[in-house]
Amino acid sequence: MPDFALPADIPLGPFEGTQINVHAAKGKSARLHADRSCSSLRTKDIRSLTLPLNAETIGRMCRHCGVWGRWARPGTALNVFLQAITGMGLCYELAIYSAPDDEECTEEDVSRAVLRLREGDYPPEESENEDLWPEFGEARSTREAVFQRWASAAESLHRALTTVRQYPWLEPWARPMLAQKSEYVEASRETAARFCRPEALKVATAVFQTPDPELPAEDPDFSVLGDATTVRSRLHRLWLRWKESVASDWLTPDQHSLLIYDLERGIERKRKKRDLVLTRGEELISEWVAQAQAKADAHPDLMGQPVLARVPKSETDEGRHRGDFDESVTHWDLGVLATYTVEADWGRRTMLLRVPAAIGERLLAGGSTLDCEPGDDGLPAPSDTREGDGSLTPGILDDAPVAERRPITAAHLRALRAADTPATEQLAIVFSAENGVEVLPVSVVEKRCETGWRGVFIAAASDLPASVIDPWTQRIAEKDHADPERVWTHRHRSPRDQGFAQHLGVATGEAWLQASLSAPYHSAAERDRALRCLALARNVDDLRILDDLTAYRNRTIPVAVWNALLATEGLDLQPFQQENETEFLGGGIGAPLSVLADVQIYTTDADPATMGKGHSPYCSHSRGAGVTKYYDLLTAADLLGNEDFDWCSQCGGYAPRRLTDPQLGYYRAAHRLQAIAQRLRSEHSQPNAQELATMRSELDELREWRPGDDTGWRGAAARRWRAIVRDLVARASKR
Ligand SMILES: [Zn+2]
Ligand SMILES: [Zn+2]
Ligand SMILES: [Zn+2]
Repeated sequence: MPDFALPADIPLGPFEGTQINVHAAKGKSARLHADRSCSSLRTKDIRSLTLPLNAETIGRMCRHCGVWGRWARPGTALNVFLQAITGMGLCYELAIYSAPDDEECTEEDVSRAVLRLREGDYPPEESENEDLWPEFGEARSTREAVFQRWASAAESLHRALTTVRQYPWLEPWARPMLAQKSEYVEASRETAARFCRPEALKVATAVFQTPDPELPAEDPDFSVLGDATTVRSRLHRLWLRWKESVASDWLTPDQHSLLIYDLERGIERKRKKRDLVLTRGEELISEWVAQAQAKADAHPDLMGQPVLARVPKSETDEGRHRGDFDESVTHWDLGVLATYTVEADWGRRTMLLRVPAAIGERLLAGGSTLDCEPGDDGLPAPSDTREGDGSLTPGILDDAPVAERRPITAAHLRALRAADTPATEQLAIVFSAENGVEVLPVSVVEKRCETGWRGVFIAAASDLPASVIDPWTQRIAEKDHADPERVWTHRHRSPRDQGFAQHLGVATGEAWLQASLSAPYHSAAERDRALRCLALARNVDDLRILDDLTAYRNRTIPVAVWNALLATEGLDLQPFQQENETEFLGGGIGAPLSVLADVQIYTTDADPATMGKGHSPYCSHSRGAGVTKYYDLLTAADLLGNEDFDWCSQCGGYAPRRLTDPQLGYYRAAHRLQAIAQRLRSEHSQPNAQELATMRSELDELREWRPGDDTGWRGAAARRWRAIVRDLVARASKR
C-alpha cells in the first residue's frame, strides 16, 4: 500500500510556514499528531504545540495523522488544501494508475481475447462446439476490463490535473508523476484500441448517415402483421431500432440481427406465418447491411480534418462523481476515442482525433455523445485565464483578519463545496456593501458571485468561537427542561402554569435538538456542529433560503436543527379572535396580536385555490423535515385575518417559527385572560367566592402585564389590553 500522507518534499506555496496546532508526547523527536486521541499516541502526558507547517514539521508527522488527520480547522484554506492532497487526494491519485499492476490483464489474456472477438462477440451459429461459449464470455470480460482500466486511469489523471491546476505551485513537483500517468493512460488506450475494428466504426457511420429506406409494406409475407399501414409502421420501428443499435456500437452491423424478433410480437402462435416473417425480416436486415457496407466501401479511406472531442463527465445531479466516462458514452464513441486519439489532454478532457473523413463528418454533425468541433494540427494552447487564480489561498476564508479578506469568487466556493467538509459548513456569514451581513448557504453565495456580487466570507459554523458556543452547549445539556417528553405530555396544562405552551418556544427547540443528538451514535463533534448551525440559522429572516436543494442527501440544515427552528404544532389564536356569542363559550376576547403578529408560518401551500391542502414540513404528506424555497411564508396576522385556508387535518397545515421568550410570555398572558373570560361566560357552573377572588387577583396582575422589554407595547395594543382586563374585572364583580 503506497503512502498517501503529506510528502515532506511537497511545495506548500502560500501555506509554507502557516502555524498549525499539533499534539505530541514529551521529547524532542516525538511524532506530531493532529488529534489528541490518535491511537498511536500512547501516553497521557501530551503537549500541545504550535508549529510552522514546513518540511521539518511534515517529516515529524505521525503516519496515520499524516494521511487522515485534520491539521487545520475546517473552513480554512489550509484545510481544503490538505484535504486535496492527503487521504484520497492528489498523493493517492499520483500513486495509482501510473504503471501496470497485478489487477491489469496480462498480455496473453489480451491477445487471446482480441483474437477470439475478431469475427464477433458470440460463437458462429453453425458452430456445434459448446466449449466456445465460456471462451467468448471470458474474452468479452477481458475487453470490458481493458476499457474500464483505461477509463479509470484517465479519470484519475483528470482528477490529479484538476488539483494541480487549482494549486499551480505544485506543478513542477508533480510533473514527472503526471507525465508517467499520461503515458500509462495512452498505453491503456492503445490496448483498448486493439479490440476496435476501424471497418466496423466506418460501417456504423454509414448506417448513421443512411436516410430511411423503402420498406416492403405491401409484401404479402408480412400481411399477417396487419394492413399495409401497420406493416409499414412495424418495419419502420425495426429499421429505427436497428439503425440506432448499429450506429452506436463498435460491432459490425451483421451482429444486430436478433432485433428481428421484435416482428414476432402478436403472431407468436401462428408458427408458419411467423417463421416466414422472421425469414423475410432477416433478409431485410441483410439488405440494409449490404447497402451500408457498399456505402462504407465507396467512401475513400482519406483522413479528414482533425477533430477536437470533449469527453463528458459522468456526474450525479449533485455534481458528485458517479462513474468513469466509459459509462456515459456509447461503444461507438469509445471505439472512436480508442482508435483515433493522437493527442490527449485529460486535464481539459479534450482529445485530438485523426479520423477518416466520413467519421469526422458524423462527429461534427453531432452524431455522438462527445462534444466535437473542428481541430487543428495540435491541441489548442490552454487559455490565459489560469484556474490558479481561483485557488483557495489564505486570506479568503476565516484564516486572516477580516479587514484583510479578499473578495470570494465562484471558483473559491466551488473548491469549498468540493472539499469533504460537513454539510453544516455550507452555511456562511458573508458581508457585502450591497446586502450587509447575511447568513447564506455557500451555493447561494456562489450563484451571486457568478452574477457579479462582490463580498467577503466572514465565517462558517466551525469558525464561531468556542467561548460562546461551549457555555451554551453546557447550559442546554444541564437544563431541567431539557426533556422534551415532559414538555410534550404537559402541553395541555392550564395557561396559569409556567409550562403552558412551552412546546412552541425556542427553549424547547433547543431541548429537542439536545435530546435528539444525545443518542450515542452522534459524536460530540456532531452535536457541536448542529448547535453552531442553529446559532447561524436562527436569526435568518426567511428560512426558505437555507436549504440547498441541490444537495438533497446532504442537507445544509440537519433535521434536528429544523426541529429547533420550527415548532411541530400550530398556534392557538383564539384569544386574538373577536368575541362572538354564536361560538362555543363566546369566541375570543379580541386581544391584540402585538409581538405575535410577525410570527412566521411556513406551509407547503397557503393558497386555498390550488389543488391539495397546505402541510407542515413535519407532515408525512410533505417531503422531509425542513422548509424549501417552494414553501409559502405567512405570518400569524395572516392566519388571524383569514378563515379560508385549506389545511391538512393531520398536521394542521403549517409549522410556526418557534416563539421567543417575550412572544411566549405574551402568548401565555393572552391565554390566561381568555381562560378567565371563558370561566366568567360559562352559564352552567358559577364560580364560587374563592374562585372569584383568585380571578380578581390574577386580573390585577395581568393588568400590569407587559413584555420583557417594552417594545411593541405602547399605544393601541397596550390600551386594548387594559380595556379587556377592565371589562373582565367588571364582569367578575357582577358575579
Ligand atoms: Zn497520530
Ligand atoms: Zn399535512
Ligand atoms: Zn394531509
